[in-house]
Amino acid sequence: MGVLVRCCAARAVAPCSWRGKYFSSGNEPAENNRVTPMLRHLVYKIKSTGPITVAEYMKEVLTNPAKGYYMHRDMLGEKGDFITSPEISQIFGELLGIWFISEWMAAGKNAAFQLVELGPGRGTLMGDILRVFSQLGSVLKNCDISIHLVEVSQSLSDLQASTLTETKIPLEQNAKSLVYMKGVTKSGLPISWYRDLQDVPKGYSFFLAHEFFDVLPVHKFQKTPQGWREVLIDIDPQVSDKLRFVLAPCVTPAEALLQHDETRDHVEVCPDAGVIIQELSERIALTGGAALIADYGHDGTKTDTFRGFCGHRLHDVLIAPGTADLTADVDFSYLRRMAQGKVASLGPIEQQTFLKNMGIDVRLKVLLDKSAEPLMRQQLLQGYDMLMNPQKMGERFNFFALLPHQRLHGRSHHINTCQSKPSASPVAGFSELAWQ
Ligand code: SAH
Repeated sequence: MGVLVRCCAARAVAPCSWRGKYFSSGNEPAENNRVTPMLRHLVYKIKSTGPITVAEYMKEVLTNPAKGYYMHRDMLGEKGDFITSPEISQIFGELLGIWFISEWMAAGKNAAFQLVELGPGRGTLMGDILRVFSQLGSVLKNCDISIHLVEVSQSLSDLQASTLTETKIPLEQNAKSLVYMKGVTKSGLPISWYRDLQDVPKGYSFFLAHEFFDVLPVHKFQKTPQGWREVLIDIDPQVSDKLRFVLAPCVTPAEALLQHDETRDHVEVCPDAGVIIQELSERIALTGGAALIADYGHDGTKTDTFRGFCGHRLHDVLIAPGTADLTADVDFSYLRRMAQGKVASLGPIEQQTFLKNMGIDVRLKVLLDKSAEPLMRQQLLQGYDMLMNPQKMGERFNFFALLPHQRLHGRSHHINTCQSKPSASPVAGFSELAWQ
Protein backbone atom coordinates (compact mmCIF):
# COMPACT_ATOMS: atom_id res chain seq x y z
CA MET A 1 0.00 0.00 0.00
CA GLY A 2 2.76 2.42 0.88
CA VAL A 3 4.08 2.35 -2.69
CA LEU A 4 0.94 3.70 -4.31
CA VAL A 5 1.21 7.14 -5.85
CA ARG A 6 -1.14 9.88 -4.85
CA CYS A 7 -3.74 10.83 -7.40
CA CYS A 8 -3.46 14.50 -8.34
CA ALA A 9 -7.09 15.20 -9.18
CA ALA A 10 -8.93 16.60 -6.20
CA ARG A 11 -12.38 15.11 -5.69
CA ALA A 12 -15.44 17.04 -4.66
CA VAL A 13 -16.90 16.42 -1.26
CA ALA A 14 -18.69 19.09 0.63
CA PRO A 15 -21.69 20.38 -1.35
CA CYS A 16 -22.88 17.04 -2.71
CA SER A 17 -25.35 14.51 -1.41
CA TRP A 18 -25.42 10.78 -2.00
CA ARG A 19 -28.34 8.68 -3.15
CA GLY A 20 -28.24 6.34 -0.17
CA LYS A 21 -29.98 8.98 1.87
CA TYR A 22 -33.54 7.96 2.42
CA PHE A 23 -36.52 10.24 2.82
CA SER A 24 -40.11 9.44 1.96
CA SER A 25 -41.18 10.79 -1.44
CA GLY A 26 -41.26 14.58 -1.12
CA ASN A 27 -43.60 17.08 -2.74
CA GLU A 28 -41.89 19.20 -5.33
CA PRO A 29 -42.34 22.89 -6.03
CA ALA A 30 -44.89 23.54 -8.82
CA GLU A 31 -42.27 24.83 -11.29
CA ASN A 32 -40.76 21.34 -11.47
CA ASN A 33 -44.05 19.96 -12.70
CA ARG A 34 -43.17 20.37 -16.34
CA VAL A 35 -44.06 18.26 -19.32
CA THR A 36 -40.84 16.51 -20.37
CA PRO A 37 -40.55 14.48 -23.62
CA MET A 38 -40.47 11.37 -21.39
CA LEU A 39 -43.72 12.38 -19.66
CA ARG A 40 -45.37 12.89 -23.06
CA HIS A 41 -44.13 9.44 -24.16
CA LEU A 42 -45.44 7.78 -20.98
CA VAL A 43 -48.83 9.52 -21.09
CA TYR A 44 -49.24 8.33 -24.69
CA LYS A 45 -48.23 4.79 -23.70
CA ILE A 46 -50.60 4.64 -20.71
CA LYS A 47 -53.47 6.10 -22.78
CA SER A 48 -53.01 3.39 -25.38
CA THR A 49 -52.32 0.31 -23.23
CA GLY A 50 -53.32 1.18 -19.66
CA PRO A 51 -51.41 1.73 -16.38
CA ILE A 52 -47.80 0.50 -16.28
CA THR A 53 -45.83 -1.26 -13.54
CA VAL A 54 -43.27 0.70 -11.52
CA ALA A 55 -40.60 -1.56 -13.07
CA GLU A 56 -41.68 -0.58 -16.58
CA TYR A 57 -41.72 3.07 -15.53
CA MET A 58 -38.18 2.88 -14.08
CA LYS A 59 -36.86 1.08 -17.14
CA GLU A 60 -38.35 3.60 -19.57
CA VAL A 61 -37.34 6.65 -17.54
CA LEU A 62 -33.76 5.50 -16.92
CA THR A 63 -32.68 3.56 -19.99
CA ASN A 64 -35.04 4.28 -22.90
CA PRO A 65 -32.48 4.61 -25.75
CA ALA A 66 -33.90 7.92 -26.99
CA LYS A 67 -34.88 9.81 -23.83
CA GLY A 68 -33.65 7.78 -20.84
CA TYR A 69 -32.06 9.62 -17.91
CA TYR A 70 -28.82 7.58 -18.06
CA MET A 71 -28.43 7.68 -21.82
CA HIS A 72 -27.35 11.22 -22.64
CA ARG A 73 -25.73 12.90 -19.69
CA ASP A 74 -23.15 12.81 -16.90
CA MET A 75 -25.25 12.80 -13.74
CA LEU A 76 -22.41 12.23 -11.27
CA GLY A 77 -20.49 14.76 -9.20
CA GLU A 78 -20.99 18.31 -8.00
CA LYS A 79 -22.76 19.55 -11.12
CA GLY A 80 -24.86 16.40 -11.50
CA ASP A 81 -27.58 14.85 -9.38
CA PHE A 82 -25.67 12.66 -6.91
CA ILE A 83 -22.19 11.62 -5.86
CA THR A 84 -20.77 8.15 -5.27
CA SER A 85 -17.92 6.82 -3.09
CA PRO A 86 -15.31 6.51 -5.90
CA GLU A 87 -16.03 10.13 -6.88
CA ILE A 88 -15.49 11.19 -3.28
CA SER A 89 -12.14 9.57 -2.53
CA GLN A 90 -9.44 7.73 -4.49
CA ILE A 91 -8.94 5.50 -1.43
CA PHE A 92 -12.24 3.73 -2.10
CA GLY A 93 -11.16 2.33 -5.49
CA GLU A 94 -7.65 1.60 -4.28
CA LEU A 95 -8.96 -0.63 -1.48
CA LEU A 96 -11.26 -2.43 -3.91
CA GLY A 97 -8.25 -3.00 -6.19
CA ILE A 98 -6.47 -4.59 -3.24
CA TRP A 99 -9.55 -6.75 -2.60
CA PHE A 100 -9.43 -8.24 -6.11
CA ILE A 101 -5.68 -8.91 -5.89
CA SER A 102 -6.12 -10.48 -2.48
CA GLU A 103 -8.93 -12.76 -3.75
CA TRP A 104 -6.93 -13.65 -6.87
CA MET A 105 -4.02 -14.67 -4.62
CA ALA A 106 -6.19 -16.58 -2.15
CA ALA A 107 -7.76 -18.54 -5.01
CA GLY A 108 -4.39 -19.72 -6.30
CA LYS A 109 -3.12 -16.93 -8.62
CA ASN A 110 -4.81 -18.02 -11.84
CA ALA A 111 -2.72 -17.32 -14.96
CA ALA A 112 -5.42 -14.97 -16.33
CA PHE A 113 -8.54 -13.13 -15.22
CA GLN A 114 -11.22 -10.83 -16.58
CA LEU A 115 -12.22 -7.87 -14.43
CA VAL A 116 -15.86 -7.09 -15.26
CA GLU A 117 -17.59 -3.95 -13.98
CA LEU A 118 -21.36 -3.44 -14.20
CA GLY A 119 -22.46 0.21 -14.53
CA PRO A 120 -19.05 1.92 -14.36
CA GLY A 121 -20.33 5.55 -14.29
CA ARG A 122 -17.46 7.86 -15.20
CA GLY A 123 -14.86 5.06 -15.02
CA THR A 124 -13.33 6.62 -11.90
CA LEU A 125 -13.55 3.44 -9.80
CA MET A 126 -11.98 1.30 -12.52
CA GLY A 127 -9.25 3.94 -12.98
CA ASP A 128 -8.34 3.76 -9.28
CA ILE A 129 -8.35 -0.05 -9.35
CA LEU A 130 -6.12 -0.16 -12.43
CA ARG A 131 -3.67 2.27 -10.81
CA VAL A 132 -3.33 -0.22 -7.93
CA PHE A 133 -2.84 -3.06 -10.42
CA SER A 134 -0.01 -1.08 -12.08
CA GLN A 135 1.60 -0.20 -8.77
CA LEU A 136 1.46 -3.82 -7.66
CA GLY A 137 2.67 -4.95 -11.09
CA SER A 138 5.35 -7.16 -9.54
CA VAL A 139 2.62 -9.26 -7.89
CA LEU A 140 0.49 -9.47 -11.06
CA LYS A 141 3.35 -9.57 -13.58
CA ASN A 142 2.66 -12.98 -15.10
CA CYS A 143 -1.11 -12.61 -15.06
CA ASP A 144 -3.04 -11.95 -18.25
CA ILE A 145 -5.70 -9.36 -17.29
CA SER A 146 -8.50 -7.96 -19.46
CA ILE A 147 -11.13 -5.33 -18.59
CA HIS A 148 -14.83 -5.66 -19.50
CA LEU A 149 -17.38 -2.91 -18.89
CA VAL A 150 -21.15 -3.45 -19.01
CA GLU A 151 -22.75 -0.09 -19.76
CA VAL A 152 -26.02 0.85 -21.51
CA SER A 153 -25.25 4.54 -21.92
CA GLN A 154 -23.22 5.58 -24.96
CA SER A 155 -22.41 8.98 -23.42
CA LEU A 156 -21.14 7.39 -20.18
CA SER A 157 -19.13 4.80 -22.10
CA ASP A 158 -17.44 7.68 -23.99
CA LEU A 159 -16.62 9.25 -20.63
CA GLN A 160 -15.28 5.90 -19.33
CA ALA A 161 -13.10 5.60 -22.43
CA SER A 162 -11.65 9.06 -21.91
CA THR A 163 -10.89 8.24 -18.25
CA LEU A 164 -9.36 4.84 -18.93
CA THR A 165 -7.75 4.87 -22.37
CA GLU A 166 -5.12 6.97 -24.17
CA THR A 167 -6.52 9.28 -26.82
CA LYS A 168 -3.60 8.48 -29.10
CA ILE A 169 -4.69 4.83 -29.43
CA PRO A 170 -8.03 4.98 -31.29
CA LEU A 171 -10.98 2.94 -30.04
CA GLU A 172 -12.71 0.45 -32.30
CA GLN A 173 -16.45 1.15 -32.38
CA ASN A 174 -19.24 -1.00 -33.76
CA ALA A 175 -22.71 -0.14 -32.49
CA LYS A 176 -24.19 -3.34 -33.99
CA SER A 177 -21.72 -5.72 -32.35
CA LEU A 178 -22.14 -7.25 -28.87
CA VAL A 179 -18.77 -5.63 -28.09
CA TYR A 180 -19.77 -2.12 -29.09
CA MET A 181 -16.42 -0.53 -28.28
CA LYS A 182 -12.92 -1.78 -27.53
CA GLY A 183 -9.44 -0.42 -26.97
CA VAL A 184 -6.46 -0.50 -24.63
CA THR A 185 -6.23 1.03 -21.14
CA LYS A 186 -3.58 3.56 -20.17
CA SER A 187 -1.66 0.71 -18.53
CA GLY A 188 -1.88 -1.43 -21.69
CA LEU A 189 -4.70 -3.86 -20.82
CA PRO A 190 -7.36 -4.77 -23.39
CA ILE A 191 -10.73 -3.17 -22.55
CA SER A 192 -14.16 -3.90 -24.09
CA TRP A 193 -17.69 -2.50 -23.67
CA TYR A 194 -20.98 -4.50 -23.71
CA ARG A 195 -24.63 -3.59 -23.10
CA ASP A 196 -25.41 -6.82 -21.25
CA LEU A 197 -23.59 -9.14 -18.86
CA GLN A 198 -24.65 -12.10 -21.05
CA ASP A 199 -22.39 -10.75 -23.81
CA VAL A 200 -19.20 -10.81 -21.71
CA PRO A 201 -17.07 -13.85 -22.64
CA LYS A 202 -17.26 -16.74 -20.17
CA GLY A 203 -14.02 -17.36 -18.30
CA TYR A 204 -12.32 -16.88 -14.94
CA SER A 205 -13.62 -13.47 -13.84
CA PHE A 206 -13.89 -11.02 -10.99
CA PHE A 207 -17.09 -8.96 -11.10
CA LEU A 208 -17.74 -5.55 -9.57
CA ALA A 209 -21.03 -3.67 -9.20
CA HIS A 210 -20.99 -0.40 -7.29
CA GLU A 211 -24.29 1.51 -7.09
CA PHE A 212 -25.56 -0.54 -10.03
CA PHE A 213 -28.24 -2.81 -8.55
CA ASP A 214 -30.14 0.15 -7.05
CA VAL A 215 -31.01 1.52 -10.52
CA LEU A 216 -32.50 -1.74 -11.78
CA PRO A 217 -36.32 -1.67 -12.09
CA VAL A 218 -38.40 -2.79 -9.10
CA HIS A 219 -41.97 -4.03 -8.92
CA LYS A 220 -43.89 -2.66 -5.92
CA PHE A 221 -46.63 -4.48 -4.03
CA GLN A 222 -49.08 -3.43 -1.32
CA LYS A 223 -50.90 -5.76 1.06
CA THR A 224 -54.68 -5.07 0.96
CA PRO A 225 -57.71 -6.74 2.57
CA GLN A 226 -58.13 -8.57 -0.78
CA GLY A 227 -54.52 -9.82 -0.73
CA TRP A 228 -51.38 -8.50 -2.45
CA ARG A 229 -51.87 -5.92 -5.18
CA GLU A 230 -49.20 -4.48 -7.47
CA VAL A 231 -48.65 -0.70 -7.42
CA LEU A 232 -49.07 0.75 -10.93
CA ILE A 233 -48.63 4.15 -12.53
CA ASP A 234 -51.60 5.80 -14.22
CA ILE A 235 -52.61 9.25 -15.50
CA ASP A 236 -54.19 11.50 -12.88
CA PRO A 237 -57.80 12.06 -14.01
CA GLN A 238 -57.95 15.42 -12.15
CA VAL A 239 -54.84 17.06 -13.68
CA SER A 240 -53.74 16.77 -17.31
CA ASP A 241 -50.20 15.49 -17.93
CA LYS A 242 -49.78 14.33 -14.35
CA LEU A 243 -49.06 10.80 -13.21
CA ARG A 244 -50.22 9.08 -10.03
CA PHE A 245 -49.84 5.74 -8.26
CA VAL A 246 -52.81 3.33 -8.28
CA LEU A 247 -53.30 -0.23 -7.09
CA ALA A 248 -53.97 -2.95 -9.67
CA PRO A 249 -57.63 -4.00 -9.37
CA CYS A 250 -56.69 -7.68 -9.51
CA VAL A 251 -53.66 -9.97 -9.33
CA THR A 252 -50.83 -9.19 -11.83
CA PRO A 253 -48.26 -11.73 -13.16
CA ALA A 254 -45.42 -10.13 -11.15
CA GLU A 255 -47.13 -11.25 -7.92
CA ALA A 256 -45.40 -14.60 -8.46
CA LEU A 257 -42.21 -12.82 -7.31
CA LEU A 258 -43.50 -12.48 -3.72
CA GLN A 259 -42.49 -14.89 -0.95
CA HIS A 260 -45.36 -16.94 0.51
CA ASP A 261 -44.29 -16.12 4.07
CA GLU A 262 -43.81 -12.37 3.46
CA THR A 263 -44.62 -10.40 6.62
CA ARG A 264 -44.17 -6.81 5.41
CA ASP A 265 -47.18 -4.89 4.09
CA HIS A 266 -45.29 -3.17 1.28
CA VAL A 267 -42.58 -4.91 -0.75
CA GLU A 268 -40.25 -4.04 -3.64
CA VAL A 269 -38.83 -6.85 -5.81
CA CYS A 270 -36.21 -6.46 -8.55
CA PRO A 271 -36.38 -9.45 -10.94
CA ASP A 272 -33.60 -8.02 -13.17
CA ALA A 273 -31.29 -8.17 -10.15
CA GLY A 274 -32.30 -11.82 -9.70
CA VAL A 275 -31.43 -12.63 -13.32
CA ILE A 276 -28.01 -10.96 -13.00
CA ILE A 277 -27.23 -12.71 -9.71
CA GLN A 278 -28.15 -16.07 -11.26
CA GLU A 279 -25.85 -15.38 -14.20
CA LEU A 280 -23.00 -14.31 -11.89
CA SER A 281 -23.52 -17.35 -9.66
CA GLU A 282 -23.50 -19.78 -12.57
CA ARG A 283 -20.33 -18.27 -13.99
CA ILE A 284 -18.51 -18.21 -10.64
CA ALA A 285 -19.56 -21.78 -9.83
CA LEU A 286 -18.34 -22.93 -13.25
CA THR A 287 -15.07 -21.07 -13.68
CA GLY A 288 -14.18 -19.58 -10.28
CA GLY A 289 -13.55 -15.92 -9.45
CA ALA A 290 -15.78 -13.73 -7.30
CA ALA A 291 -18.31 -10.89 -7.38
CA LEU A 292 -18.16 -7.83 -5.14
CA ILE A 293 -21.39 -5.86 -4.89
CA ALA A 294 -21.59 -2.57 -3.01
CA ASP A 295 -24.74 -0.52 -2.64
CA TYR A 296 -27.19 0.95 -0.17
CA GLY A 297 -29.77 -1.53 0.90
CA HIS A 298 -31.29 -3.78 3.52
CA ASP A 299 -31.58 -7.45 4.33
CA GLY A 300 -35.25 -7.99 3.48
CA THR A 301 -36.64 -5.57 6.06
CA LYS A 302 -37.46 -2.29 4.32
CA THR A 303 -40.67 -1.43 2.54
CA ASP A 304 -41.11 1.74 0.44
CA THR A 305 -37.68 2.96 -0.70
CA PHE A 306 -38.35 4.00 -4.32
CA ARG A 307 -37.14 7.59 -4.73
CA GLY A 308 -35.69 10.16 -7.11
CA PHE A 309 -32.69 12.48 -7.04
CA CYS A 310 -32.13 15.68 -8.98
CA GLY A 311 -29.43 18.28 -8.29
CA HIS A 312 -28.46 16.53 -5.02
CA ARG A 313 -32.01 16.85 -3.69
CA LEU A 314 -34.78 14.36 -3.24
CA HIS A 315 -37.17 14.50 -6.18
CA ASP A 316 -40.75 13.23 -6.55
CA VAL A 317 -40.42 10.14 -8.75
CA LEU A 318 -43.50 10.98 -10.84
CA ILE A 319 -42.55 14.58 -11.64
CA ALA A 320 -40.63 15.61 -14.79
CA PRO A 321 -39.58 11.99 -15.57
CA GLY A 322 -36.28 11.71 -17.43
CA THR A 323 -34.74 14.67 -15.55
CA ALA A 324 -34.02 12.86 -12.26
CA ASP A 325 -32.36 9.64 -11.18
CA LEU A 326 -34.67 6.91 -9.88
CA THR A 327 -33.46 4.36 -7.35
CA ALA A 328 -34.59 1.81 -4.78
CA ASP A 329 -32.66 0.19 -1.91
CA VAL A 330 -31.12 -3.17 -2.80
CA ASP A 331 -32.68 -6.15 -1.00
CA PHE A 332 -29.60 -8.26 -0.21
CA SER A 333 -31.74 -11.11 1.16
CA TYR A 334 -33.27 -11.39 -2.33
CA LEU A 335 -29.81 -11.40 -3.96
CA ARG A 336 -28.71 -14.18 -1.57
CA ARG A 337 -31.84 -16.19 -2.42
CA MET A 338 -31.25 -15.74 -6.16
CA ALA A 339 -27.73 -17.22 -5.85
CA GLN A 340 -29.69 -20.45 -5.19
CA GLY A 341 -26.83 -22.02 -3.25
CA LYS A 342 -24.69 -22.30 -6.39
CA VAL A 343 -22.07 -20.09 -4.74
CA ALA A 344 -21.42 -18.92 -1.20
CA SER A 345 -22.39 -15.37 -0.23
CA LEU A 346 -20.82 -13.05 2.33
CA GLY A 347 -22.44 -9.96 3.81
CA PRO A 348 -24.06 -7.56 3.58
CA ILE A 349 -21.66 -5.77 5.90
CA GLU A 350 -21.50 -2.05 6.47
CA GLN A 351 -19.14 0.02 4.35
CA GLN A 352 -17.34 1.37 7.44
CA THR A 353 -16.51 -2.18 8.57
CA PHE A 354 -15.47 -3.37 5.12
CA LEU A 355 -13.17 -0.39 4.49
CA LYS A 356 -11.71 -0.60 8.00
CA ASN A 357 -10.91 -4.28 7.44
CA MET A 358 -9.30 -3.37 4.11
CA GLY A 359 -6.93 -0.96 5.88
CA ILE A 360 -8.45 2.46 5.12
CA ASP A 361 -6.80 4.02 8.19
CA VAL A 362 -3.30 2.97 7.13
CA ARG A 363 -3.92 4.17 3.57
CA LEU A 364 -5.25 7.54 4.77
CA LYS A 365 -2.17 8.01 6.96
CA VAL A 366 0.20 7.23 4.05
CA LEU A 367 -1.56 9.78 1.84
CA LEU A 368 -1.67 12.42 4.60
CA ASP A 369 2.03 11.93 5.35
CA LYS A 370 2.84 12.40 1.66
CA SER A 371 0.70 15.46 1.03
CA ALA A 372 1.98 18.86 2.03
CA GLU A 373 -0.90 20.86 0.55
CA PRO A 374 -3.47 21.84 3.20
CA LEU A 375 -6.33 21.69 0.66
CA MET A 376 -5.44 18.14 -0.38
CA ARG A 377 -5.17 17.06 3.26
CA GLN A 378 -8.54 18.59 4.01
CA GLN A 379 -10.10 16.79 1.04
CA LEU A 380 -8.61 13.46 2.11
CA LEU A 381 -10.01 13.88 5.62
CA GLN A 382 -13.42 15.03 4.39
CA GLY A 383 -13.54 12.11 1.94
CA TYR A 384 -12.67 9.66 4.73
CA ASP A 385 -15.42 11.12 6.91
CA MET A 386 -17.99 10.89 4.13
CA LEU A 387 -17.16 7.22 3.41
CA MET A 388 -16.85 6.07 7.02
CA ASN A 389 -19.10 8.22 9.22
CA PRO A 390 -22.15 6.16 10.27
CA GLN A 391 -24.31 9.29 9.82
CA LYS A 392 -23.07 9.62 6.24
CA MET A 393 -22.16 6.63 4.02
CA GLY A 394 -20.56 4.38 6.65
CA GLU A 395 -23.69 2.49 7.70
CA ARG A 396 -26.17 2.85 4.84
CA PHE A 397 -23.82 1.39 2.23
CA ASN A 398 -23.10 -2.33 2.31
CA PHE A 399 -20.73 -4.85 0.77
CA PHE A 400 -21.86 -8.26 -0.40
CA ALA A 401 -19.77 -10.95 -2.14
CA LEU A 402 -20.35 -14.14 -4.12
CA LEU A 403 -17.58 -16.73 -4.02
CA PRO A 404 -17.15 -20.37 -5.05
CA HIS A 405 -18.03 -22.69 -2.16
CA GLN A 406 -14.53 -24.13 -2.15
CA ARG A 407 -13.07 -20.64 -1.50
CA LEU A 408 -14.74 -20.58 1.92
CA HIS A 409 -14.73 -24.23 2.85
CA GLY A 410 -11.55 -25.63 1.41
CA ARG A 411 -11.14 -27.48 -1.88
CA SER A 412 -14.64 -28.88 -2.40
CA HIS A 413 -18.02 -28.37 -0.76
CA HIS A 414 -18.87 -32.02 -1.45
CA ILE A 415 -16.22 -33.19 1.01
CA ASN A 416 -17.57 -35.61 3.59
CA THR A 417 -17.72 -33.80 6.94
CA CYS A 418 -15.68 -36.59 8.59
CA GLN A 419 -12.70 -35.77 6.39
CA SER A 420 -10.42 -32.95 7.47
CA LYS A 421 -11.00 -29.93 5.25
CA PRO A 422 -8.14 -27.88 3.88
CA SER A 423 -8.29 -24.52 5.67
CA ALA A 424 -9.37 -21.56 3.54
CA SER A 425 -7.93 -18.11 4.23
CA PRO A 426 -10.39 -15.44 5.43
CA VAL A 427 -11.94 -13.17 2.78
CA ALA A 428 -10.52 -9.65 3.03
CA GLY A 429 -12.97 -6.88 3.88
CA PHE A 430 -15.33 -9.35 5.55
CA SER A 431 -12.50 -9.94 7.98
CA GLU A 432 -9.15 -8.17 8.32
CA LEU A 433 -6.93 -8.06 5.25
CA ALA A 434 -4.01 -10.45 5.64
CA TRP A 435 -1.50 -10.81 2.81
CA GLN A 436 -0.31 -14.34 2.29
N1 SAH B 1 -20.63 2.65 -10.50
C1 SAH B 1 -20.60 4.07 -10.75
C2 SAH B 1 -21.89 4.62 -11.37
C3 SAH B 1 -23.19 4.34 -10.69
S1 SAH B 1 -24.58 5.04 -11.57
C4 SAH B 1 -20.23 4.80 -9.48
O1 SAH B 1 -20.36 4.22 -8.41
O2 SAH B 1 -19.83 5.96 -9.55
C5 SAH B 1 -25.23 3.61 -12.43
C6 SAH B 1 -24.44 3.15 -13.63
O3 SAH B 1 -25.11 2.01 -14.20
C7 SAH B 1 -24.31 4.13 -14.79
O4 SAH B 1 -23.07 3.93 -15.41
C8 SAH B 1 -25.48 3.71 -15.71
O5 SAH B 1 -25.36 4.18 -17.04
C9 SAH B 1 -25.39 2.22 -15.60
N2 SAH B 1 -26.61 1.47 -15.91
C10 SAH B 1 -27.85 1.75 -15.52
N3 SAH B 1 -28.71 0.78 -15.91
C11 SAH B 1 -27.97 -0.14 -16.56
C12 SAH B 1 -28.28 -1.38 -17.19
N4 SAH B 1 -29.50 -1.86 -17.23
N5 SAH B 1 -27.25 -2.09 -17.73
C13 SAH B 1 -25.98 -1.61 -17.69
N6 SAH B 1 -25.63 -0.42 -17.10
C14 SAH B 1 -26.62 0.30 -16.55
